[in-house]
Amino acid sequence: MSLSKIEREVKILAYTISDECINCGACDDSCPVGAIAEAGEKRVIDEDNCIDCGACVDTCPVNCISE
Ligand code: SF4
Ligand code: SF4
Repeated sequence: MSLSKIEREVKILAYTISDECINCGACDDSCPVGAIAEAGEKRVIDEDNCIDCGACVDTCPVNCISE
């Protein structure tokens, strides 16, 4: 199995926030497990804590959260 295939399978377990994030904080309270945190000038999702519920996706004004 190639490394890129492994990375893809790992990624599928968590949502991610792209560099389009404007760090507005709108998504923070939507996460039931507190997996969203500020990191520099954007928010990031802790993939170890994310339970893949998708609740944060619709709260983002710039649609930068995806699976
Ligand atoms: S998908 Fe659910 S658990 Fe994961 S960061 Fe978004 S709200 Fe939190
Ligand atoms: S709602 Fe979207 S733009 Fe705002 S902090 Fe969360 S991911 Fe970034």
